[in-house]
Amino acid sequence: MILDAEIKAQLAQYLQLMEGDVLLKVSAGSDDVSRDMLALVDELASLSPNIKIEHAQLPRTPSFSVNRIGEDTGVTFAGIPLGHEFTSLVLALLQVSGRAPKVDQKLMDQIKSMKGEYHFESYISLSCHNCPDVVQALNVMSILNPGITHTMIDGATFKEEVESKEIMAVPTVFLNGEPFGSGRMTLEEILAKMGNAPDASELSDKDPFDVLIVGGGPAGASAAIYAARKGLRTGIVAERFGGQVMDTLGIENFISVKYTEGPKLVASLEEHVKEYGIDVMNSQRAKRMEKKDLIEVQLENGAVLKSKTVILSTGARWRNIGVPGEAEFKNKGVAYCPHCDGPLFEGKHVAVIGGGNSGVEAAIDLAGIAKHVTVLEFMPELKADAVLQERLYSLPNVTVLKNVQTKEITGTDKVDGISYMDRGTGEEHHIELQGVFVQIGLVPNTDWICETVECTRFGEIIVDKHGATNIPGVFAAGDCTDSAYKQIIISMGSGATAALGAFDYLIRNG
Ligand SMILES: Cc1cc2nc3c(=O)[nH]c(=O)nc-3n(C[C@H](O)[C@H](O)[C@H](O)COP(=O)(O)OP(=O)(O)OC[C@H]3O[C@@H](n4cnc5c(N)ncnc54)[C@H](O)[C@@H]3O)c2cc1C
Repeated sequence: MILDAEIKAQLAQYLQLMEGDVLLKVSAGSDDVSRDMLALVDELASLSPNIKIEHAQLPRTPSFSVNRIGEDTGVTFAGIPLGHEFTSLVLALLQVSGRAPKVDQKLMDQIKSMKGEYHFESYISLSCHNCPDVVQALNVMSILNPGITHTMIDGATFKEEVESKEIMAVPTVFLNGEPFGSGRMTLEEILAKMGNAPDASELSDKDPFDVLIVGGGPAGASAAIYAARKGLRTGIVAERFGGQVMDTLGIENFISVKYTEGPKLVASLEEHVKEYGIDVMNSQRAKRMEKKDLIEVQLENGAVLKSKTVILSTGARWRNIGVPGEAEFKNKGVAYCPHCDGPLFEGKHVAVIGGGNSGVEAAIDLAGIAKHVTVLEFMPELKADAVLQERLYSLPNVTVLKNVQTKEITGTDKVDGISYMDRGTGEEHHIELQGVFVQIGLVPNTDWICETVECTRFGEIIVDKHGATNIPGVFAAGDCTDSAYKQIIISMGSGATAALGAFDYLIRNG
């Protein structure tokens, strides 16, 4: 039995929502993964009379495709979609059976009207929490448009393919055999990358907002809900709705919820925001702001949005180490997300740069997958919590190097080592390894705005107790500000403060 009793019971309930028959075409061999895949599809068929199975020869073995009766949809799973991809499998079954995907009608129409042949392949790992979004978006596209196909490929099952394509980060997507993109991508982002983004004039033609929020993380979402509940005309422009929470696995300190996961929390935020008719302009990046009669925010696609007040909530991103080799080998051995990319380094030697909580957590995580992990810390002592350090030092395959400065990440077409200097002796050393995880904290996403609003020397926007910046009508919230601590609940609180500050400002200034 490949599914445990509890999951089977849940699955049986979901499968009752199927609206028609689905044909699984299964390509199996005599290997262990094929045996487990056959067990999985047999269990699925035993749970719903709507699921039929046919044996077939598909381009990859083991794999299976999910089809309507008499019509291939192009949705294929190569490997076994368990782990984080289990939801992708369930959604594919429901959507192929006829259940409408939970996607804006506008986007669905856009996908249906696309002309041409698009064959997507996404390489994933089953422990990657960024991958299901991409897999599910590509599956939806494949289900809605007969010219689009998508195969999800589990890197652990198709190791040779992953090695030959030199894939060192997941998800990595190929379109018609050519690299298309890597990392988390929403459906809108994929469509925008294919040249289907809303054009600038469509955005510039919008009426002015009362409150325009730049950034769609917890701070922006909270600000939007507070503003809309005051009856204000509210818009959010965000490069990626959800922000850092999309990259977060387990969350245990979102008070009143004992445990949740990033993407789940983002889905709730989105649902809550949509409840109030807030205009969410996703996959759009702001590049300039200017105060005239109204405040104007210019986007990278050239559109200009106007608003009486603006709340900046652009959050933060991973800090780069800035040594030679980092940029060259990004996704070729240099990685930032251990949960996502760790499995690609199974049995290999890796380094983690940074000995704070995130670095040490990453090293502990990676030690369970990689052959050996070297932690490089600049300071004479690790900065991580004592409990994490204790766990780290108990692991047999971890070496901790303190008081060292990373000098270079070396390689030819991919990472083959790291050079560092012992800060005590000044001696330089080189270690041969295949992966480097950079875990040295975050920087605020304010490069574009600190010439306009007042920031600290660290690039954090300076706000007062109302969330106001030095420019009247411009407020800021969350990780992009000089708030002492950066957490989800703190960002949400400051988003609420900024929205109430903006409301007060509008009352006084019309
Ligand atoms: C791996 C990880 C794990 C974490 N775990 C936890 C945890 O367990 N508990 C906890 O409380 N906190 C955790 N945090 C911290 C928490 O995620 C942040 O404090 C919180 O997300 C900050 O919210 P924010 O809205 O200020 O910014 P962000 O979440 O960074 O959101 C910023 C938003 O602004 C957008 N944006 C940026 N620049 C632009 C631009 N120029 N134009 C338009 N949009 C733009 C982004 O796309 C995004 O939508 C974690 C962070 C990370 C990275």
